[in-house]
Amino acid sequence: MCRHISDDCVRLTENRMAETNTGSCLCGAVTFRTHGRLRGIVYCHCSQCRKQTGHFYAATNVADGCIDVSGGDMLKWYAASAKARRGFCSNCGSALFWKHQDLDYVSVLAGAFNKPTGLEPACHIFVEDKGDYYEINDGLPQFPHSTPSVQVADN
Ligand SMILES: [Zn+2]
Ligand SMILES: [Zn+2]
Repeated sequence: MCRHISDDCVRLTENRMAETNTGSCLCGAVTFRTHGRLRGIVYCHCSQCRKQTGHFYAATNVADGCIDVSGGDMLKWYAASAKARRGFCSNCGSALFWKHQDLDYVSVLAGAFNKPTGLEPACHIFVEDKGDYYEINDGLPQFPHSTPSVQVADN
């Protein structure tokens, strides 16, 4: 895994044809660049994600050392639980990041990436808590809560 901006990170990037991705909030005050291949998109239907985004969460994640963020003074963090916080642009309100205090990666919202993203769908989590105004019928795996491989905040 790519954990730091280091030789490993550079080599990983080169091996994958210098795969980098960029993104921003709606107003452009906060921008970011990721290094290395991005995980498939996990859709989270928990009430926190629904209320923060207005629908449900769609996010990849990136090792802490493999993302550079600019405009950080506009980035605000809301502690939605004792262990995790949610980053958003304080100017335009775009939801951008989710960060657990004990994990060495940050979740990045799929919709913030500039195209082409190369992102692919993976699965749905917290479907037991999903909104009652839509169905999930895209054929992807569904989990009532989290999965062993997807760590999320304790609600
Ligand atoms: Zn903004
Ligand atoms: Zn969630």
